[in-house]
Amino acid sequence: MDDAFGVPVRVDRFPKREFIAEARGVWPFKRIVVSPHFLMMHPTYQRAVLAHEAGHCKHFHFEKRILALPVLDIDARMDSRIRARSRDRSRRICRKPKVMD
Ligand SMILES: [Zn+2]
Repeated sequence: MDDAFGVPVRVDRFPKREFIAEARGVWPFKRIVVSPHFLMMHPTYQRAVLAHEAGHCKHFHFEKRILALPVLDIDARMDSRIRARSRDRSRRICRKPKVMD
């Protein structure tokens, strides 16, 4: 797995915190980083996750978020709440794997 939808994919085999997959970096150094949890997922879910993360990269979500920070006055506490919510959602998805084949 070298890339997904033109975005490089790398495996973080020893992540320091829990995650499934993340879009990281800013243009032109964007990449998708996946965890060992991702590698255990059904290929159908892997494709969906990669498409989701590639969408973040293709639509410059990280860059837009950085630019919007001063405008929207989102403080660090709000940012960590958003990340915690996203992490909780990921955990719920991982707990209930549904194989669609
Ligand atoms: Zn996302």
